[in-house]
Formats: sequence, structure tokens, C-alpha cells
Amino acid sequence: MMTNTIIEINHLSKKFNNLEVLKDIDFSIKKGEVVVIIGSSGSGKSTLLRCMNLLEIPDSGNVLFEGINIMDKSVNIDKLRSKMTMVFQQFNLFSNKTVLGNCILAQMKVLKRKKQEATEMALANLEKVGLLDKKDYKVTKLSGGQKQRVAIARALCMNPEIILFDEPTSALDPEMVNEVLQVIKSLAKEGMSMVIVTHEMNFAKEVADRIVFMDQGVIAIQGTPQEIFEGNDNERLNKFINAK
Ligand code: ADP
Ligand code: MG
Repeated sequence: MMTNTIIEINHLSKKFNNLEVLKDIDFSIKKGEVVVIIGSSGSGKSTLLRCMNLLEIPDSGNVLFEGINIMDKSVNIDKLRSKMTMVFQQFNLFSNKTVLGNCILAQMKVLKRKKQEATEMALANLEKVGLLDKKDYKVTKLSGGQKQRVAIARALCMNPEIILFDEPTSALDPEMVNEVLQVIKSLAKEGMSMVIVTHEMNFAKEVADRIVFMDQGVIAIQGTPQEIFEGNDNERLNKFINAK
């Protein structure tokens, strides 16, 4: 086994009815790597992320997390999702709970932490995303950018090995995009492993170790930001970039 690899995907395929959404995908992510996935709407980006933590079940192929086949029956799916936690476009917070309540729930349920330990962890991560002063707010009182930062703090509370971001700023008003991207950039600086689906091309250029361009269910081309944004000869990628 390659010790440095967190996620390894082999020959992954997924159909919805007759629509082939992922076609024989091979993909892997190394520890500490920041991989940004770009591509048109409908190209399969979300489905690829969702297959990584079994929010969708692949039709064929395997997904190895730290060398273990995640479809193996002995794998505890909640534990798996805590190590490979996901941040969604629509935040997926519990709107009837406070900021702190959102951050401690899964820690207690999945990681079996005591309330005090979970609370300390939550406070440390809320401070990290700049929201310690909002800890007792109901999440309905927060702006979109604040909600997404709570979602990131909640993810961090699980001590993830990797965080999967699915268009974390697409639901935000433009003036709130930056505060969320700043938090993600600071995680990149700390060496957090991340897979980020985004349409923010400047952010992608800045933060990515590797950019993957998905097109019609395949990885059409991948490379460093320089290779992707300067002088690639993939016609569909260039069309995509120029439309941005
Ligand atoms: P992207 O995230 O790149 O926009 P998705 O992975 O969400 O693409 O979707 C890829 C294709 O699969 C789209 O055509 C979408 O309509 C379809 N699709 C996604 N999820 C489902 C589902 N649960 N049932 C049926 N079709 C789906
Ligand atoms: Mg999507």
C-alpha cells in the first residue's frame, strides 16, 4: 500500500437510470494535498465527491480510504464520514440549534466525546473561523458566510483526515465569498488535505496543488494550476475557462 495516499479510487462508475454520470474514474489524493475539481454543471463533480464517502453507492469500482475498501461491510460509515468529512453548498446545519450545538452534536454521537470535551473542541474551532462570539446564536440568525464558517468549524471538530468541499461558496452573496475562501486557504496553509469543488477560478489557482477538470463523467485533464491555466491544449477545458 502507498502509505502517503489517503483516498484511492479505481475504475469508479456510477449511473442514474440510464445516465452514465461517472465513467471508469481513477483518482487518488495524497496526504496534505489540495485538489480542486472544476468542470461544467452536470459533469459529475458532486457525484464523485459523494461516492467517496458513500452518500452515493458506486455501481462498480472501489474507493480505498487509507488502504481500506470503504464498501467492506465491516466499515463503520459514520466513523468513515467523520474522517472524510464534507462541507456542502447549502451548509446542512441544524437550524433549530445554536452554533455551539451544531458543533458538538456529531462529536458526541459519533466520536463518543463527553460534552465538556466536545465543547472545548468546538470553541477552539469556532475561534479559528472567527465566530467564537456567535457561539450561542441560533444558526438562523447568521449570514450565509457565517453559516458556512460554522459548517467548516463543525467539520474540523471531527479531526478529519481530509475535508471534501462541494461548492462551498456557490450559495453565498458575493460579498461573503471571500471570508469563506480565506478560512479554506488558512487550512491549506496548515497542510489539511482537501478536495474542493469550486467555480472560483482565482481561488483554485491560488490554493490548489492539483486541478482536475471533469467533463461528461471523466477526468478529462489534470495538472498543476500552471499546467491547467497556461498553455494546455484541451479544447473543452479552454472553452470552460474562457467562459468564466
Ligand atoms: P455536478 O456536480 O458536476 O454539477 P452532478 O454529479 O451533481 O454534477 O450530476 C451529474 C449528473 O447526474 C447530472 O446530469 C445530474 O442531473 C445527475 N444526477 C445527480 N444526482 C442524481 C440523482 N440522485 N438522481 C438522478 N440523477 C442525478
Ligand atoms: Mg455539483
